[in-house]
Amino acid sequence: MTLRKKTLLKVIILGDSGVGKTSLMQQFVNNKFLHQYKATIGADFLTKEITVDNKVVTLQIWDTAGQERFQSLGVAFYRGADCCVLCYDVTNEKSLNNLTSWKDEFLVQSNVANPQDFPFIIIGNKIDIEESRKIPSLSKKLNNITNQGFGGLNYPVFETSAKDSINVEAAFEVIAKMALQQE
Ligand code: GDP
Ligand code: MG
Repeated sequence: MTLRKKTLLKVIILGDSGVGKTSLMQQFVNNKFLHQYKATIGADFLTKEITVDNKVVTLQIWDTAGQERFQSLGVAFYRGADCCVLCYDVTNEKSLNNLTSWKDEFLVQSNVANPQDFPFIIIGNKIDIEESRKIPSLSKKLNNITNQGFGGLNYPVFETSAKDSINVEAAFEVIAKMALQQE
């Protein structure tokens, strides 16, 4: 029997309150969707083991507990992050405009060694509510924001539905791959 080295990757999910961060994590880890998640006190994480590129990887996914609305999240939340998921809601324009602030906040708080190379991905959630969509798929606006606001860097963008489980696993797989390439 060969012993395989286990890799633990810390994944942080950021974005405005209500975009579906907790729902994405719950769908990915527990395959469930609830209409309401109770905010608990303090930061929390869930883990899930996946295999990428023949490597077993444990994703430790850190979610906020609602405190993103009114206060900063604290150093422990950001410490040792291997990658960061920036989430917006495709029915909420403001949540997209706020992504650059979330990215800046992450870089300030986490103090990562190489901000230019740090793996970020962007998730546009709630694509199942087609009738309320405000951000067209891969729109010019989105490209402008990702290019200017993110310093000319192009981060992968995934459109998801935590409710209908569309693209959620695919997004986390890419996150894991990007983080592994940093090792
Ligand atoms: P958070 O504050 O970013 O953690 O957002 P939540 O995960 O608590 O979700 C906020 C609300 O949006 C809840 O009522 C969820 O049920 C709903 N929600 C989350 N993801 C989706 C989605 O993909 N589609 C739809 N239709 N609703 C969603
Ligand atoms: Mg939440």
